[in-house]
Amino acid sequence: METHAKVVIIGGGVVGCSILFHLAKFGWKDSVLLERNELTSGSSWHAAGQIHTISSDPNISRLQGYTINLYKEIEEISGHSVGMHNTGGFYLASNKDWYDYLKRERSKARYMGLDQEFISLEEVARLHPLIDPKRYIAALWDPLDGDIDPSGVTYAYAKAAKVHGASYHTHTPVLETNQRADGSWDVVTEKGTINAEHIVNAGGLWAREVGHLSGLNLPVQPMEHHYLITEAIPEIEAREERLPAGIDYEGNMYFRQEGNGMLLGTYEPVATPWSVRGTPQHFGHELLEPQLDHIAERLELGFERIPALANAGIKDMINGPFTFGPDGNPMIGPVPGMRNYWAAVGVMAGFCQAGGVGKCLAEWMIEGEPEIDVWAMDIARFGDYASPDWGTIKSSENYERRFVMTFPNETLPKGRCQRTTALYDRLTDKGAVWGDSFGLEHALWFANGPEDAHEEPTFLRSRAHDYVAAEVKAVREKVGAIEIANFAKHAFKGADARRFLDHIMAGTIPKTGRISLSPMLTPKGKLYGDLTVACLGDDEFLVLGSGAAQEMHRRWFEQHLDGFDVNYANESSRWHGIALSGPNSRELLSRISRDDVSAEALEFRDIRRTFVGGVPAILTRLSFSGELGYEIYVAPEYQIKLYDAIAGAGEDLGLKFYGARALMSLRLEKNWGVWTLDFRPDFTAAESGLDVFINWGKDFVGKGAAESERDNSPKKRLICMTVDTPDIDVCNDEAILKDGKCVGYVTSGGYAHYVKQSMALGYVPTDLATAGTRLEIEINGEMFAATVIDKALYDAAGERMRQ
Ligand SMILES: Cc1cc2nc3c(=O)[nH]c(=O)nc-3n(C[C@H](O)[C@H](O)[C@H](O)COP(=O)(O)OP(=O)(O)OC[C@H]3O[C@@H](n4cnc5c(N)ncnc54)[C@H](O)[C@@H]3O)c2cc1C
Repeated sequence: METHAKVVIIGGGVVGCSILFHLAKFGWKDSVLLERNELTSGSSWHAAGQIHTISSDPNISRLQGYTINLYKEIEEISGHSVGMHNTGGFYLASNKDWYDYLKRERSKARYMGLDQEFISLEEVARLHPLIDPKRYIAALWDPLDGDIDPSGVTYAYAKAAKVHGASYHTHTPVLETNQRADGSWDVVTEKGTINAEHIVNAGGLWAREVGHLSGLNLPVQPMEHHYLITEAIPEIEAREERLPAGIDYEGNMYFRQEGNGMLLGTYEPVATPWSVRGTPQHFGHELLEPQLDHIAERLELGFERIPALANAGIKDMINGPFTFGPDGNPMIGPVPGMRNYWAAVGVMAGFCQAGGVGKCLAEWMIEGEPEIDVWAMDIARFGDYASPDWGTIKSSENYERRFVMTFPNETLPKGRCQRTTALYDRLTDKGAVWGDSFGLEHALWFANGPEDAHEEPTFLRSRAHDYVAAEVKAVREKVGAIEIANFAKHAFKGADARRFLDHIMAGTIPKTGRISLSPMLTPKGKLYGDLTVACLGDDEFLVLGSGAAQEMHRRWFEQHLDGFDVNYANESSRWHGIALSGPNSRELLSRISRDDVSAEALEFRDIRRTFVGGVPAILTRLSFSGELGYEIYVAPEYQIKLYDAIAGAGEDLGLKFYGARALMSLRLEKNWGVWTLDFRPDFTAAESGLDVFINWGKDFVGKGAAESERDNSPKKRLICMTVDTPDIDVCNDEAILKDGKCVGYVTSGGYAHYVKQSMALGYVPTDLATAGTRLEIEINGEMFAATVIDKALYDAAGERMRQ
């Protein structure tokens, strides 16, 4: 066995083998995969092998399309059959909500280059005569769907990787992973030790145990899962053509032809986590005892919808475990806080996703960044709060919701209150309706007290609409307060703090006491942050950013610290606080501060350390609402005191607490984008318009790429549109069309309450980005007229926030 390698991948399931293939194909031939047993000895061997493209995240859908299209290539290179049946498949809706959902999926498919189309129920019956079409109201057809042989695919990846120059060793369990001072890893096995620059945890069912070898606790959980295979069905035996595959959303089940019978799998309403305290090392090519009673109800529904199943004998009942992550999506990428340690875990649909996971991870390792934004799969979307216990709860929830839609206004109930601030009870009493992000509860909107704090999941405007309108009005006309514990706060201290930030940020780094906005770019010129940089002292800075992306940014900062005399810490949990916005905010602040907070003494984009409400605070004059406003950051133990001071002083000024929905509405009427939606690594500074904040007179990461784009002009641009709709708004991911042709897609939007206008942001080709261009947006299958605007509908000159 080798003693040195560029990369050691631990785990020879479909995910590890795909990574090995992609690394070798892209040039890192010195990559080695170690497998405890035979290849496929985890969940990969007993998968149902069904493949489809639909996923909640468009980029994951795109990668699922990539995965399916890759099967021909690995079969050809390896000479090993993947057992592909490219039958096509349909997604079946049995009620209006599911039909709306499918219309939204079709809209996404338009710009993802996927070829999905609605087919009639007569066509469903013709293609799949065993289905009772009366049970459905709509069917979306995807010609890419079908099924493969799971073991064939895994071996094809491994053998194709070998053809490209990589190697793998079976019956070689990894016993230890020990990091050397130079950051490389000694990967210890009974056959010897390999020193590798990087290691990849692709341990699948044993991802947790492989993680423990390096001190890593992963919030993933294997779940029991059933599918059955019937005896031969005469109608199938009589056919020449193979039946298409299908997903029945209401039944949370999938089906396809297997031999001359059928395979039907279902995600039961109550999940069964398997081996919660750890996957046994001896577990191998084994199955679990079927629990028929767990799936009986779902099977009955299946029998109603595919009546031939009811009369068919059951040949096999499979119950096998596979691993889920907390939100059902894979967790891949460099693990924040670790050096040269890569994760590729929690891949719950390996035969739909492993190709995309392998491609992205290999690009990330070799080139420093994946070709497309992989935020929905990035392990950094979770932090320390994502404990193994929380992981089990959330993974179970996601298992149960495998094919269950989540409405745009819906928040999932399990694993809640993992992190709360001191104001949780007070704001609950006020009627807060809570959402969670990065494990932290934050108010979405305020009802009239706790009894009133409820909302139906819907694609339309919900009952929250009028409450949010009142919050927006209060901010625009009086004063609003919002908790800002969920913003990220990154602290930089030391002699080189300014030099470091100058290097990593594309914008100007402010003087002491001042704040500036700056994009952060990758070497390829992609956006990696949209940050607020505040200078507290000559060698002390606070960088404010997206709370959800705090670990992603932490990882980025830590990767670039070498050679700078600077101490960096993610202080997001150290600073909670409240923001005040609105014309009366100055008066309110003056009542709870001894400082002179007049316009001259505390200017727009000033920052200072002071006392507010009688407690130590960092005070900034900033607001994401576009109004005169202040952000007051205090340590968590002062949050109640600050709240009480604000609540006590604000009553006669029209103070109203508001939530994230109102904030999103306020920023829309200012034409401002947000990180993770409008700003993300799919786009560049010039495309997003954030290039206006670039300081071209200095060197910074990504400057070369940004300059070349500046000189050649970007091909697409972020635009803001008004949308003519009576009672529905975009969420995101809707197709934007011009003359019936898809030209782009919506990245965010909603209702701008103060200007009373439905709005959307999205990317379109540059020639369609001029003000006045008429476009269309497809919302729930209907086309709505949209017009490009180049000026904010509210206070375009930005006078209110500067007053
Ligand atoms: C019943 C069932 C039906 C399914 N149906 C489908 C489907 O229709 N479509 C689909 O896309 N997906 C399906 N899946 C999911 C799919 O099987 C998984 O997503 C996939 O197998 C995950 O692959 P993996 O490589 O991450 O993990 P695994 O397959 O679990 O591979 C991990 C590997 O790591 C090895 N390993 C662990 N520890 C060590 C160590 N210390 N040293 C060396 N090697 C180690 C293990 O032996 C194992 O081979 C199904 C799963 C089940 C259980």
